[in-house]
Amino acid sequence: MKETLIIILFFFTIPHNGQGSLPEDRFGSPLDIPIILAGTFGELRSNHFHAGIDIKTQQRQGLAVYSIADGSVSRIKISPWGYGKALYITHPNGYTSVYAHLQKFSPEIEAYIKKIQYQKKSYEVEVFPDPSEIILRRGELIAYSGNTGGSSGPHLHFEIRSTATEMPINPMLYGFSVADARNPTLLKAYAYPLSKQARVNQSNEKIAIKFTKQPDGSFLADKLTALGEIGFGVNTYDRQDKAINQNGVYSVKQIVNGKLYTDYNFETFSFSESRYINTLIDYAHFSTYRERIQKCFREPANQLSIYKTLYNDGKVEVRDGLSYNVEIHINDLAGNLTKLIIPVEGKNEAVVNFKPQDQTADYIIAKKPNNFDLGGAKVYFPANTFYEDFYIDLKKGKDTVTIHDNKVAAHQNFTITFDVSQYSQEDRKQLFIGRLDENFTPSYSSTYKRGTTFTTRTRNLGTYTLVKDSIAPTIRPKNFKNKQWLSNYNYLSLTIADDLSGIDSYSATLNGEWILMEYEPKTNTITYNFDDMILDKKECELNIEVIDNVRNKSSFNATFFRK
Ligand SMILES: [Zn+2]
Repeated sequence: MKETLIIILFFFTIPHNGQGSLPEDRFGSPLDIPIILAGTFGELRSNHFHAGIDIKTQQRQGLAVYSIADGSVSRIKISPWGYGKALYITHPNGYTSVYAHLQKFSPEIEAYIKKIQYQKKSYEVEVFPDPSEIILRRGELIAYSGNTGGSSGPHLHFEIRSTATEMPINPMLYGFSVADARNPTLLKAYAYPLSKQARVNQSNEKIAIKFTKQPDGSFLADKLTALGEIGFGVNTYDRQDKAINQNGVYSVKQIVNGKLYTDYNFETFSFSESRYINTLIDYAHFSTYRERIQKCFREPANQLSIYKTLYNDGKVEVRDGLSYNVEIHINDLAGNLTKLIIPVEGKNEAVVNFKPQDQTADYIIAKKPNNFDLGGAKVYFPANTFYEDFYIDLKKGKDTVTIHDNKVAAHQNFTITFDVSQYSQEDRKQLFIGRLDENFTPSYSSTYKRGTTFTTRTRNLGTYTLVKDSIAPTIRPKNFKNKQWLSNYNYLSLTIADDLSGIDSYSATLNGEWILMEYEPKTNTITYNFDDMILDKKECELNIEVIDNVRNKSSFNATFFRK
């Protein structure tokens, strides 16, 4: 019954242009500064759609963050990665609000979570408090904004989710307002021949569409000639009034001869479908040019639920001798519209410079599991690892396996297994499977060692190699020296780093007792806060141990004085 109610409520209250039928006072603002966005909901990110809004915090950390409504803390997660320090509040109206990349929590919540961190002897924790444990009023201080986790600058990542489905919903549909009088920017547009015989401007490959701005503000494309099934895609962003950030647009529509073919928007989606973003964008184009083309047609493997209308999967069937008027409407959430008009003429012209498909010895049938023995290494792709069938390029070199290239997206993990029997048991200890980036620098890929085989599970195509890491991590004090008096210090910080395999774990003790050190991988820093523990000794013994991913271990000892 509760769920039905939420759905009905939802149905009646979603405004189409962001202003609206919702009572303005349903949710308060999480910050007491004007909302300026560094990122919008649904924005195209790597392998996912952005599930919230990124609110700018004036290039600073430490801004007070408030609960947007009455509720109780339902989840606290702390990690050096992802959302960093994150807080989830469940509200009685069926929504959960999420606040991420926090610097620290309010004193009450900070005390609650530190107790758990000390119990578990871990900086990384995830807890689900009972609804009666931490009850909050609307507008109550819950945390301070920060830059923790996978954040590249101070901001508040803020989400609203349906508590029942956990689906994130566009927070801007709930009365938060952002000044935005600008139309979305159209950078580029492309036309794709889709069926085997299809062509656009005598090409069997996608072409860039030339367009010019009209007096009324819309864009008019040069007339295309085409035949067969074709589709369109746009590279676009939205800029709002008070910032230069290039944010995601809200909706894209494609209208052909007056008929709505495609309509999708970022009102809501589910986390489980987010990775299908790689079928919405032209993934090969993105990996080559770092430019995201949003397709107006749906690929067969695309399972996204963002479409409100989809006629003929958004594909346009062009016949010889007929004319088509294709319009692409791009909207931001404030209702600003950018319109591209593409005249298309059906014409049976020959394809010039026909580009044949690249062929290799191995062919992937996406729906089936595929197994390859490369001699010294094996690769296993479970069914539906890929979105479509293709010729895969597999190469085995000395200690390396090249799995095609990064122009193809994998939807789920596949396995690479190396035979390491040619290495001594001693050597094997320091070996790991690394993935080479564009500069041939290896990065650690979780390596499972069993006898004479090493296995890794990954979703990234590219080159994998066996790498030996024989150097232990480094540990260096940042703000103190051995034998120093630290009476006026609030914290201790050290730099920890590892050259190859990366840091797996670290631990620290003060006079033999475990202490919490917060890890910030962006600056390779671990920090201890003196507030955590009252030291009754004048002379303190600090001991730190850091282990890398192949279990090379370093330790650091220092003595300091405090009174
Ligand atoms: Zn964010």
